[in-house]
Amino acid sequence: MNFSGDFHVHTPFCQHGTEDKMEDYINQAIERGLTYLTFTEHAPLPNGFSDPAPGKDSSMPADAVETYLQEARRLKKKYRDKLVIQVGFEVDFIEGFEKETRMLLEKWGPLIDDAILSVHMLRSPEGRFFCLDYSAREFSSIVSVFGSVDAVYATYYRTLRQAIETDLGLFKPKRLGHITLVEKFRQAFPPSRKFDREISEILELVAGKGMELDINTAGLYKEHCQSIYPSESFIRKAAELAIPLVPGSDSHQANHIARGFQRLPELPYRLPGGVKR
Ligand SMILES: [Zn+2]
Ligand SMILES: [Zn+2]
Repeated sequence: MNFSGDFHVHTPFCQHGTEDKMEDYINQAIERGLTYLTFTEHAPLPNGFSDPAPGKDSSMPADAVETYLQEARRLKKKYRDKLVIQVGFEVDFIEGFEKETRMLLEKWGPLIDDAILSVHMLRSPEGRFFCLDYSAREFSSIVSVFGSVDAVYATYYRTLRQAIETDLGLFKPKRLGHITLVEKFRQAFPPSRKFDREISEILELVAGKGMELDINTAGLYKEHCQSIYPSESFIRKAAELAIPLVPGSDSHQANHIARGFQRLPELPYRLPGGVKR
């Protein structure tokens, strides 16, 4: 790599991470010799959507956004000689809340540098929502509601397609987050078939839309997953399709910055489109 950076990093502003301060993440990044760091805290959930996660802790509260952005601005200045710091969000794509998400993006989009679009919330056939990656126990109830592991996977990839195809306005995030997150508990709840065709189609769509891909090492450290999101063969396929590959640790604690990056396949990685060198 001709640069090194971590472009998917959380902060104490979401309610399910650690209390580690943004400055702690920055110091870790500097210690590890990174030159770029992008904070992508979970954006507030769209208006009218009630957090289905059992802990109701999926995102940052709307009234914390100002403080989050202010703190990032302060740190950008303070560390400007050492690290290029960018700030943005990981935004949820939620079926049926497209308009509200667009409004959220229009409100905050002008104030951020970069963003990731991810699917964590799945709508069941009866219209109930579930948080896909909360816990193995929660995943098992999702499987009961959807009827099978395969049905959960199929719904996930269908929702991800919608995320790519839906017009979310001028500030729609350019990078798609951890595209195989549904595999987080795959060893405990294996699907009966491979979803390679679905993943390949997702990559074709990403390429067609000129989006970037979050190459996310967090899955390597999940007990039931132990793979990068997505796995190496799909990272290579994405590279063949000339999709910009942007590495991210998805850290929720400071000492996880750039974790697992040594296990990324040797390929050209790119800075997010929003980052100025
Ligand atoms: Zn998180
Ligand atoms: Zn995520």
